[in-house]
Amino acid sequence: MLKLKEIPVMQTEKLPVQDSCADAVDHQSIRVAEARRRILSAITPISDYEKLALRDALGRILAQDIISPLNVPSHTNSAMDGIALSSEDLPATQSRVLEMIGTAYAGVPFKGECRAGQCVRIMTGAPMPTGTDTVIMQEQIEFLTADKLRIGIAHRPGQNVRQVGEDIGQGTSVLRVGRQIMPADLGILASLGIGEILVRRRPRVAFFSTGDELRSIGETLGEGDIYDSNRYSLYGMLSRLGVEVLDLGVVQDKPEALRNAFRHAAAMADVVITSGGVSVGDADYIKPVLSELGEIAFWKIAMKPGRPLTFGKLGQAHFFGLPGNPVAVMVTFYQFVLPALQYLASGEIKKPLTLRAICTAPLYNRPGRFEFQRGVLAQGEDGGFTVSKTGKQGSGILTSMSHANCFILLDEDCAGVQAGDSVIVQPFEALV
Ligand code: AMP
Ligand code: MG
Repeated sequence: MLKLKEIPVMQTEKLPVQDSCADAVDHQSIRVAEARRRILSAITPISDYEKLALRDALGRILAQDIISPLNVPSHTNSAMDGIALSSEDLPATQSRVLEMIGTAYAGVPFKGECRAGQCVRIMTGAPMPTGTDTVIMQEQIEFLTADKLRIGIAHRPGQNVRQVGEDIGQGTSVLRVGRQIMPADLGILASLGIGEILVRRRPRVAFFSTGDELRSIGETLGEGDIYDSNRYSLYGMLSRLGVEVLDLGVVQDKPEALRNAFRHAAAMADVVITSGGVSVGDADYIKPVLSELGEIAFWKIAMKPGRPLTFGKLGQAHFFGLPGNPVAVMVTFYQFVLPALQYLASGEIKKPLTLRAICTAPLYNRPGRFEFQRGVLAQGEDGGFTVSKTGKQGSGILTSMSHANCFILLDEDCAGVQAGDSVIVQPFEALV
């Protein structure tokens, strides 16, 4: 038997080793979760604020706690059209005739007092008259004459009545700092009579594309040229997020041009995003220029697509050098830039919604890197979810993002998926 050290070793000339996307293990890459953690820990949420009229505050981040100045509802009132009476007049064993002494409308309360054996006709939202605590709905009443009616048994004391302050009590905390204002919040604030609120300043995000091959729409394509699409998908994702966008166009693959663009962008934005030029090609200058003018925190993530992502600082601005490939731009934006911008804007770390779905076909994944495949999520008649991938998954196949409605998350420990296995998906719908 051969001992280990006796195994003949082939002597080969040593070649300089460079990491490539095909490497099985890449020790310079950090994990997706670690990259997200490092990004978030580098960010201090915006604290500047401004005052806005209520409608203009939709989608903005609240910069003050809202304490209710009122009770909502402001008075105990009827939840039904019917009659109001005292629960002491509810019959226990057989029906009973009551005298109707007036009517209470929403906005026009009944002024008198209701005594034993009496009731008041009442409309939804009308304040409960003095002496009443219970409402019987109209459909359960037998009207005998204009002012006599009969009620049956099996009513519950206090039924169909909305108590003062049951939704919001005066002096209670309603909405907290950091909350993103949703449509219901506009309604709540209006119900409290609040017409203006303090909201945080929106993050300012400057972005540009890099690449000598890139042409803008309207320009003629020369040989090997392509239209710049990344600026448009970035514009779309940023706009839906509600940040202030500063589109700085296309910058050539030249260190001096990049230096100028970096300085200009960093002077006007909280976050600078570029695409392209972050790999190891001869025209990839983002990393050297960033380390010259700012700092690189990391530049490689064990993921697919989107491995060469450069994160760092450029003056006061946070810098994201996204890869050039159009799908990688969108994947890295959603996985890293989106949570960073949400945290910068609100101080809240939002965990993206994920679902489990049954995979309809096998999926390949190489353990050790996190793969974000583009999937189509569907809900069956039984309410269960299934998912399938959208054809070709190359990082240049932008139609895969357009056809997809979710990412299929194959994490670093996943060695592939069989048809019928359950996988975790991240619906696009829940991303912004
Ligand atoms: P790079 O990372 O600069 O080597 O770019 C990788 C690939 O993405 C190349 O095929 C580029 O032509 C392409 N690419 C880079 N930037 C853009 C852009 N803004 N729009 C469309 N494709 C791009
Ligand atoms: Mg390039």
